[in-house]
Amino acid sequence: MDLGLKGRRALVCGASKGLGRACALALAEAGVELTIVARGEAALVKTAEEISAHAGVKVHVVACDIATAVGRERALQALPAPDILITNAGGPPPGDFREWSREHWIAAIDANMLAPIELMRMTVDGMMQRKFGRIVNITSAAVKAPIDALGLSNGARSGLTGFVAGLARKTVRHNVTINNLLPGYFETDRFATFIEARATASHASSEQLRQAEMDTVPAGRFGDPSEFGAACAFLASAQAGYITGQNLLLDGGAYPGTF
Ligand code: NAP
Repeated sequence: MDLGLKGRRALVCGASKGLGRACALALAEAGVELTIVARGEAALVKTAEEISAHAGVKVHVVACDIATAVGRERALQALPAPDILITNAGGPPPGDFREWSREHWIAAIDANMLAPIELMRMTVDGMMQRKFGRIVNITSAAVKAPIDALGLSNGARSGLTGFVAGLARKTVRHNVTINNLLPGYFETDRFATFIEARATASHASSEQLRQAEMDTVPAGRFGDPSEFGAACAFLASAQAGYITGQNLLLDGGAYPGTF
């Protein structure tokens, strides 16, 4: 399927690894020129080279922390008028809410709520003027059903979700859509760290924990990041102009509700 994106330009955050990288790769395969962001420069440059060699598109890099104002300015200096914006940053650490101070909460809100909101603020008016924009926020299945150990994520991402629900209805008239992708369990570095932490906390082995988590997924497996990237590219496509304000769960059927 031709996604109608050849020659479009995308800013993809948190894109040196995992789900962000998969989104960048799928967009590149659709002919999108990329500016990709992550803090660690070496992994970012390696990913840019791999994507560029694979898809034959230009891939620019900005090594910065997207959770900071300086980082966001640097990213948008490199690509001032993106057609596509994919927001993403690392998730907050697991733990017990009794151990979290105000600083823990502010860090989670900065990375997983305010950074995407600020990036939208800095790009959405230009997209509306140009009559094309696709914004996809990588959030979490925790928005739909809270994950016990990830209270910081449950809270911060729900704030983003509520905000997007309002804004997405204001922009769609101008062919600018805003949607959230909610990953369940996908095989990434972040997921491996999550499994390790839970294994340590429950005095089980990582393998036992992996199997126990896999048993909760009706698909009988964890997600492949490429499946996530494909969904992202579709939401960014020319054809997806009538989809806005949605929260799309990619979890192999793990969420048990009818809707
Ligand atoms: P990952 O494999 O750890 O990759 C995270 C990517 O984001 C890396 O490229 C990382 O590079 C970059 N990054 C992190 N913090 C950043 C920041 N402040 N500024 C710029 N770049 C940053 O994680 P993932 O599994 O792809 O997860 C992506 C998001 O989805 C996370 O928020 C995670 O919590 C959420 N999620 C994932 C799953 C899952 O199963 N994988 C499930 C639910 C939710 P640097 O570290 O070099 O910056």
